[in-house]
Amino acid sequence: MKRILITGAAGFLGSHLCDRFIKEGFHVIAMDNLITGDLKNIEHLFKLENFEYYHHDVTKFVHVPGELDYILHFASPASPIDYLKIPIQTLKVGALGTHNLLGLAKEKNARILIASTSEIYGDPLVHPQTEEYYGNVNTIGPRGVYDEAKRFQESITMAYHRFHGVETRIVRIFNTYGPRMRLNDGRVIPAFMGQALRGEDLTVFGDGSQTRSFCYVDDEIEGIYRLLMSDYTLPVNIGNPHEITIRDFAEEIIKLTGTTQKVIYKDLPQDDPMQRQPDISKAKEILGWEPKVGREEGMRKTFEYFKTLSKEELERTEHRDFTKRNKK
Ligand code: UDP
Repeated sequence: MKRILITGAAGFLGSHLCDRFIKEGFHVIAMDNLITGDLKNIEHLFKLENFEYYHHDVTKFVHVPGELDYILHFASPASPIDYLKIPIQTLKVGALGTHNLLGLAKEKNARILIASTSEIYGDPLVHPQTEEYYGNVNTIGPRGVYDEAKRFQESITMAYHRFHGVETRIVRIFNTYGPRMRLNDGRVIPAFMGQALRGEDLTVFGDGSQTRSFCYVDDEIEGIYRLLMSDYTLPVNIGNPHEITIRDFAEEIIKLTGTTQKVIYKDLPQDDPMQRQPDISKAKEILGWEPKVGREEGMRKTFEYFKTLSKEELERTEHRDFTKRNKK
């Protein structure tokens, strides 16, 4: 039985990866420090013999007994609200955490896949973004702690590959959504859906002309799985290229949820990218991958999930407006 370590296992993507690799017949070793993750995302796996969980902060030395075939490094805060709340941890997990896991991969002779992000392109001047684009990042802005940690992460990963011969893979993940997103992580989809469920107005930041392209989680996981199993060592964009303005997206959510509330406009956070759309030619060509789930279907499934959350949870996670803090 192949053994895989998944960091950030109690998070949104980490927990879906645990499910996938369990389904594929792997022995899954899940690791998380629960700063942003939640054990309820993986508690259904605890009864399985081929699943184990370690509560550990990967910025400290990482030890896993026994053999390891694969490592997936998915531990990191991943939303602008989180970077503002825990900027140092965000930097550390992308930099020191990645260093520790690359060291572990080298020691165990394991293949390691690193979760990078479209954020490494910053506020892009090339559209759609190809893997060859170097990006336009503000190092000292509020998103800098995430963007630069992820850029460093790619560099150190390539260095371990070239210098130590470690088998590495780098996925650049674009906006992904689905069940188990944290309702209060500040991202636009949980924000709008939470607001619709609480009967609040939907907060569009700026004039809403900025664009994003949203990928359903099942598609994202399939792309990551294929990349891990491929022999391609340079970064690959995995995301859905169907782009929409945030203003139009708010209207879609109003229709989907049936809310009678309206859209209200708030200040645009600093360094909020104006447009984002992955060029997925490489993923198509190398992995034979492209997304299958359209926005309508994916959003419906995601809203079904948010509807199952309790009233208390909805109230506890009331939308927080960080735009003022962003501006400092
Ligand atoms: N956004 C918004 N209202 C919200 C939350 C986010 O208009 O309540 C906007 C945000 O300014 C950004 C887009 O939605 O332009 C996507 O934001 P998210 O945080 O989901 O992802 P990211 O900016 O990291 O792509």
